[in-house]
Order: sequence, then C-alpha cells, then structure tokens
Amino acid sequence: MTAQVTFVGCGDAFGSGGRFNTCFVVDAPGVRYAIDFGATSLVALKQAGIEHNSIDAIVLTHIHADHCAGVPSMLLDAMLGARRQTPLVIAGPPDTENRMMEVMEVLMPGSGVMEPRFDLTYVDMQLMKPNQVTEHLTVTPYPAYHTAETNPTSIRCEAGGKVVSYTGDSAWTKHIPKISKDADLFICESYFYEKPIRFHMNYPDVLEHWDEFQAKRTILTHFSSEMLAMADRVPEECAHDGLVVEI
Ligand SMILES: [Zn+2]
Ligand SMILES: [Zn+2]
Repeated sequence: MTAQVTFVGCGDAFGSGGRFNTCFVVDAPGVRYAIDFGATSLVALKQAGIEHNSIDAIVLTHIHADHCAGVPSMLLDAMLGARRQTPLVIAGPPDTENRMMEVMEVLMPGSGVMEPRFDLTYVDMQLMKPNQVTEHLTVTPYPAYHTAETNPTSIRCEAGGKVVSYTGDSAWTKHIPKISKDADLFICESYFYEKPIRFHMNYPDVLEHWDEFQAKRTILTHFSSEMLAMADRVPEECAHDGLVVEI
C-alpha cells in the first residue's frame, strides 16, 4: 500500500517566492485529508486540479491565517457552488471550533446563519493523545513552541498504515523527535537560512537536530525569501508547490 502527498502550498505567510500558503494533501488508503488550509489554499487546490469536495478531513496545526484562513471560502463554496454532499471533518488544536467560527464571521460576515447540507464536524483534538478524526485517520497533536494565541501544535497523522508528520510553525521542542520517529514522511519547517527568528525552526536548528528526526524521509518547508535565496546551498530535500511524493 502506498500513499501520496501533494504539496499544494508550502510557502510562508507572506507569499515569499510566489508560493501558496501551507496545504499538504495526503491520499492514504481510505481517506484523503489536507494538513492546513491557508488563505490562498483554495486557489492552490484549483491550480493543482484537486476538488475540495474530495477532501474528507482538514487537520489544522494552528490558527494563523497562512494555515487556516482558506477554510471560510472553502466552506461557502461547498455549500453554494460545489454543492458538497459528503461529510467533512475539520480537526485542530483545542478550541478549534470556536476559533474557526470567529474566523468565519470575520472573513465572511453573516455566513454563520448558513446551514451546510452535508455533515460538517469539528474535532477539537486533545494534545498528546491519538484522536480519531475519521474512521481511517488518527492524529496526535503535540504542543508547539509558536505564538501561544494560535494554539500551536506539531502533528503526527496516521492513515492506512502511513504516517505523515509536520512540525507546523514551531521552534524546536522535545516533542519533535517523537512526531518524526519512523514517519513515512516528516515535513519540517525551515523558515530562515541564517537569521534567528523566534517561534520558528530555522535552517541552523534543522542541522543541529537532524540526527534526532529519524523519519524515513524528511522534506523542508515554509521558506522565507531569505531561505529561498540560499536554497542551492541546502542539500536536504526541499518542498516546492506542486511537489508530489509517494510514500
Ligand atoms: Zn506559517
Ligand atoms: Zn504560524
């Protein structure tokens, strides 16, 4: 059994390099899920030729616009234009349902009165525990070291025997070796090449901790323009929008 991971978007919050915000679509046996759904992810999915109606679950790492702000327009389209009929689960850190309702009301005022005709379920995941998100998808979130108000997590997703893990936006934590261990794919933030930026993993952190990752494959993501400018000096595997990986 194989799974496929499509890097629909792997950019930072500021459009560096013309890249889309974070959204990774995983096709695992029994479930298609997206990890994060940033402000530009709906456009990115269209460009990648992926129907958002075909996604069974969205797993959010934290409540920052470049990781979750595409959800309101996606939900509206699912209700009005794309006429979704199949269930959708939106899972995320504690308080995700409330926070996403607020995001929805701010970005699409008045949309709160609309009732989807499909089953829409929010899952506020418990930290440090496996959470059953769909029948085939289990996600274990760990606390990340990032802007506290975003309820930041690093996640380990398991579906069809395949593990995809992602640091989210996070400076180094002791949990990162746990989420990466034996993962079929570990997606690791590497925001800046040289400049130390608080609340993020930067390339020097990646190098310092490389031996602790222990995943079968590691791909770096969330590049600033400074990191992109140095990418030819980076021998580790780097994400780009449109990258498709078999695991
Ligand atoms: Zn980010
Ligand atoms: Zn963030």
